[in-house]
Amino acid sequence: MDQAIKDMLGVYGVTADTDRFLQSEQRMFVNGEFVAAGGNETIDVIEPATATHLTSVPSGTTEDVDGAVAAARFALRDGDWAKMKPAARERLLLKLADAIEQHAQTLGEIETIDNGKAIGPCIEMDILGGADLLRYMAGFATKLDGATRQVSIPGEHMAWTFREPVGVVGAIVPWNWPFNMAMWKMAAALAVGCTMVIKPAQQTSLSMLYFARLCQEVGLPPGVINIVTGRGSTIGDYLANHPDIDKVSFTGSTPVGRAVGEAAGRALSPVTLELGGKSPMVALDDADPKAIAAATRWSVYFNAGQVCSAGSRLYAHSSVYDDVIDELSQMTSAMKIAPGLDPDCDMGPVISDSARRSILSYIEQGKSEGAELIYGGNALDRDGFFIEPTLFAADDNNLSIVQEEIFGPVLVVLKFDSDEEAMRLANDNIYGLAGSIWTKDISRALRYSAQLEAGTVWINNHDIVDSNMPCGGFKQSGFGKDMGPEQLQHFTRTKAVWLTL
Ligand code: NDP
Repeated sequence: MDQAIKDMLGVYGVTADTDRFLQSEQRMFVNGEFVAAGGNETIDVIEPATATHLTSVPSGTTEDVDGAVAAARFALRDGDWAKMKPAARERLLLKLADAIEQHAQTLGEIETIDNGKAIGPCIEMDILGGADLLRYMAGFATKLDGATRQVSIPGEHMAWTFREPVGVVGAIVPWNWPFNMAMWKMAAALAVGCTMVIKPAQQTSLSMLYFARLCQEVGLPPGVINIVTGRGSTIGDYLANHPDIDKVSFTGSTPVGRAVGEAAGRALSPVTLELGGKSPMVALDDADPKAIAAATRWSVYFNAGQVCSAGSRLYAHSSVYDDVIDELSQMTSAMKIAPGLDPDCDMGPVISDSARRSILSYIEQGKSEGAELIYGGNALDRDGFFIEPTLFAADDNNLSIVQEEIFGPVLVVLKFDSDEEAMRLANDNIYGLAGSIWTKDISRALRYSAQLEAGTVWINNHDIVDSNMPCGGFKQSGFGKDMGPEQLQHFTRTKAVWLTL
């Protein structure tokens, strides 16, 4: 660990447990044991608030993936997990959720240090939200049912269906919500009895490696959860194409998602793809500018804009446009940009130097294409991958900053004059992950929530989630749902059974 990080930890303070974990050698978790990568190679982990070396994680090999898949297959068919009754599985998952809650401070600190995100929301949403989802899904372990069916063919028969686990799940997790996105996949998969091989993003594997200790502590049988760290281009690709993986659940970019989807197509296996977004917020003429500005500021700048559902393009009716811009300018300029461990941090650094360069190049493109830069636009003159929260106004829906996912703290506001124009502009995008409508008029809210081409529509809000509500996109944002009862379908398969009397 570089001195700059030690200094930062000295300023903000972390638990002894976090400190011990970060100083320890990082190991993958396969078949219930902590192991080094087959080739003994490692990947450097760079801490985003100081841009210095934090630790190293194993760079897993394809043989490591094979070992993890074999362990998961054994656990699914022959291990204690396979024999466990649903009620026992539910109790074990509830115990695991309790362990997450007990270690929320440490998990939150590890996540913040690894990713750069603000500690308060991280503990609240990423970690405790993950524990809540696990509890929610655990309840379904005892409630999976099938149906008895009337059949009309000649003869005397009974017929029924039941749902069984889809099998061994390969989960490929992104770096923007390392713990929470893993939980979005794991909670439902475990509840229905699947086993898993999880590949965290190479930049942010630490919270999963700490979580592995909790799996061991609560007695999760070996092989149920396997965590293989390493590069997406090698082991991620290998996992997605693995013949003994029954289902892949992927969250990340649309290009990689497409490749993962192609692999699933070749294997004829089911896949869930939660991909990019460019979510519109539509403020109609009667909307409250203060409320919209507050929600937009939260949505597009929290997690430094690295949120797939971020409200990154805001369409404001000409009658509220100036007020919205004023409110946003004030709120944005008052934000505290700081390391995520700072308890007052509103926005931390972005994940990496390459992410920062990509975001800055979008900002330059926006300026050169004629958008008006109202606030921000620069990297901060300090160590770490910090960028100012950035606010643009534009009058052309075709600009790259309006159409493409920037995945950084960049908001573009556009003006419209009629509801029809707003809906046309909002839907004129390849993505369809989420969106919001802002109005006091319930009829217009309902009409436009139906028209918006998005997997989630919020009315007078943006970016709220609940374990009982499914998330997942339309169009190039992918398909399949995470969370809600809908997700159970993705991790189960229906078997039809006939009995001839
Ligand atoms: P990726 O899609 O490359 O990464 C997401 C996950 O996929 C990571 O675990 C990554 O591993 C893995 N991966 C990478 N290549 C492959 C592959 N060929 N086969 C299987 N798995 C693979 O996203 P990036 O990290 O490159 O981010 C790029 C952009 O993607 C962002 O700027 C953003 O626009 C979008 N994105 C969207 C997310 C969302 O929440 N919808 C989340 C993350 C990114 P590894 O990191 O080890 O390479």
